[in-house]
Amino acid sequence: MDLVSEPSKPIIYESTMTNNNSSNTITTLITPQSPATSSPSGATTPTTPSRYENQKRRDWNTFCQYLRNHRPPLSLPMCSGAHVLEFLRYLDQFGKTKVHNQTCPFFGMPNPPAPCPCPLRQAWGSLDALIGRLRAAYEEHGGRPESNPFGARAVRLFLREVRDFQAKARGVSYEKKRKRPKPKVMPPPPPPQPPTAA
Ligand SMILES: [Zn+2]
Repeated sequence: MDLVSEPSKPIIYESTMTNNNSSNTITTLITPQSPATSSPSGATTPTTPSRYENQKRRDWNTFCQYLRNHRPPLSLPMCSGAHVLEFLRYLDQFGKTKVHNQTCPFFGMPNPPAPCPCPLRQAWGSLDALIGRLRAAYEEHGGRPESNPFGARAVRLFLREVRDFQAKARGVSYEKKRKRPKPKVMPPPPPPQPPTAA
């Protein structure tokens, strides 16, 4: 299917994509502003492209490949949050996480005792991280932040739904992993009653 790659396609992003082998890596490391990466002050800048950068480049290539194979054809500037959702659903077929349907007897069990026909999907954590990387990559490839389809409201809502459903289906609380639950704030004990007149 990839035989039709006419070089005269007027897609702006195609040209930026082709030189992402070495030169682009350097620029991303040099550029001081890296909005989406969560390194607080850039204290530890790796000299080689990090695993994150490599993964980000692979994700980006996968997404561009998806756009190229899309019917009807899609170019990056045409991409909306709805297309991103379509892409995420498409990725589910490569997922490795069992997510039980609500009708499954193992719904809500972290370690089911037997196999069941429920589908394998992409785990929420993978999707969440993927969207973060693609969101950054989109802007690194010249996309405007205000039209970033990976930051669309629909995508945020979708991820939240997936998280909540998978937490229920698998009996896993994602909140616990992200931050330790604070010990319940107990009300201070009432001050001892002064021995008033008895
Ligand atoms: Zn099941």
